[in-house]
Amino acid sequence: MTAMISRATVEQMVRDSLRRHQPGAGHKDHEPGHRHRNEGQSGSPRLIANISARHCHLDQDTLRILFGPQAELTVMKPLYQSGAFASEQTVTIFGPRKQMISNLRILGPLRDASQIELAFSDSRFLGIDAPVRVSGNTKGTPGCFLVGPHGGLAIAEGVIRAARHVHMSPDDAVEYGVVEGDRMRLVVDGEQGGVFDDVSVRISPESKLEVHLDTDEGNAVDLVNARNVTLTKR
Ligand SMILES: [Zn+2]
Repeated sequence: MTAMISRATVEQMVRDSLRRHQPGAGHKDHEPGHRHRNEGQSGSPRLIANISARHCHLDQDTLRILFGPQAELTVMKPLYQSGAFASEQTVTIFGPRKQMISNLRILGPLRDASQIELAFSDSRFLGIDAPVRVSGNTKGTPGCFLVGPHGGLAIAEGVIRAARHVHMSPDDAVEYGVVEGDRMRLVVDGEQGGVFDDVSVRISPESKLEVHLDTDEGNAVDLVNARNVTLTKR
């Protein structure tokens, strides 16, 4: 459920927020696509681990409120998973304290329900107590305000910290000996490496093998400079 908020309210929120904060300062938009590849291990599927930066998925109604009645998402960059893309459009998100993060990238295509995926540090900054959820499971999660060039609205629920997860095909799942919903262990080998337990398995025929960590998680292990990443059944 969503509620439109008046243009005057939106503009006041933007003004208030800009007055309180210098833009930038540790909250820049991280484009999707920081990645690390596993080059070794012949025989096992080729594993890619990517940082999934903060982003949102929108439903059609929300897109039209934010960008106008004729609005459609346009592709800025295809993502590794087929069909998914970073759109050229971005929105501004406000939390209850009217702190804001601008340039929140919209990932396409449109979905049946809007969902905002933040890192822990983002949710702390905004003052939104976002729970860790698997994408699509947003029942009972907090809402937020979204603002676009055409208008703004309050979203009743849908703000989450995406549970770390791995996308894979049914063939990959057989290879690893896992089923949908299993938890796996990701080992990041590098100068600042580490181990992530509880990587949720998500299986789909269209999926390519890829781990998604959020920005906090990926940066904590310097994923971009990792030597190797391996995934094992727990
Ligand atoms: Zn993902």
